[in-house]
Amino acid sequence: MQAAADRLAQGDLTVRLEGQASRELHGLATSVNAVALELAERIRSVTRQKEEAEAILASMAEGVIALDAQATVLRLNQAASDILGLDHGRLLGRSLREAVRSKDLHDILDRVLAGQTPAEGEVVLRNQGNDVQLQVRATSLSHAAAGQPGAVVVLHDVTRLKRLETMRRDFAANVSHEMRTPITSIKGFVETLLDGALDDRADAERFLGIILQQAERLNALINDLLALAGLERDNAAEAMPLTRQPLRPILAEAVQSRAAAAAAKQIAVDLQCSDDLVCLANPGLLQQAVLNLLDNAIAYSEPATAIAIRAGLGDRDLHIAVADQGRGIAPEHLERIFERFYRVDRARSRDAGGTGLGLAITKHIVQAHKGRILVDSTPGKGSTFTIVLPPA
Ligand code: ADP
Repeated sequence: MQAAADRLAQGDLTVRLEGQASRELHGLATSVNAVALELAERIRSVTRQKEEAEAILASMAEGVIALDAQATVLRLNQAASDILGLDHGRLLGRSLREAVRSKDLHDILDRVLAGQTPAEGEVVLRNQGNDVQLQVRATSLSHAAAGQPGAVVVLHDVTRLKRLETMRRDFAANVSHEMRTPITSIKGFVETLLDGALDDRADAERFLGIILQQAERLNALINDLLALAGLERDNAAEAMPLTRQPLRPILAEAVQSRAAAAAAKQIAVDLQCSDDLVCLANPGLLQQAVLNLLDNAIAYSEPATAIAIRAGLGDRDLHIAVADQGRGIAPEHLERIFERFYRVDRARSRDAGGTGLGLAITKHIVQAHKGRILVDSTPGKGSTFTIVLPPA
């Protein structure tokens, strides 16, 4: 019994006492066995709880750090070291104040460790050259053994949210700005007409012509905005039905619908696409994407040049290329032309009836087809926009 009790004291919970001579000893042995069993069960339960807590912490997107009263890191999850851009091992046992030099974070730590709980705030850190925006919330943590309370700090990375917020704000500002110009112009000409220009028939006709043109610009802008909003909604809901289609009719119709505009500038549009080429597409939308490219090719080309539309199967993908011999786009603009309202030459785009949304819409449509869009351009020589789609 002495030997068994010693093993138990050393943590061996598999010990069992058996076959004791007297009844008293037998009773004692049964109790010792019950203690060993109960202890083993409790340890299993504590271990399970610890594993559960660790699994929860590990699966969290938020960074969680437990600190003692001196702000020394006691525990942290993987997300915390990822967000801070610091090694797990380099943080553990170190002061969080020393590891992360941010006045805003230090303020939050000071407040929570002084008993003000919870302490919250926004903190901007630099991680691998990028600004990371964090929402930080720290709560007091009473640690039974440690006497003075420590804290749990939760880091929530809101960089993406902030960026979306900025984009949304910029977009609203851009839309308002784009609308104000034609509205101001319409208002101005109507006032001029009311002030007496109506009496001069030639002037009146000219002004009404301008008013009509500005109203058409507003209409084009609103149509493009609605198209974008619709695409975003359907894209998010993955509600864009794609069906197998012969490609040539989609392209031929697009060319046909812009025949007059091309002829007005003596621009020849050549289409090469074999009859048996099949695509997986929403035909109306794919045609809209090609139309936007064709409109641009016509708008940004000099008269008496040529446009070529070539479609074919590459190694793995289906390509639709629209090539013009127009003014081209300087390399520094190439990355940005797919952004909403981005234009290389504002005045020229407006004169051509552009809204600055055409390529943004095209890109959205192509993405809804699980494809991508490429551009290759030489200033003064021409541009080629290529839609690349997965094979049908
Ligand atoms: P916009 O309505 O102004 O044409 P887009 O989104 O279609 O708007 O195009 C964005 C900008 O990209 C245009 O303003 C123009 O500067 C440039 N761009 C687009 N296509 C061409 C092209 N084929 N040749 C030259 N520049 C182009």
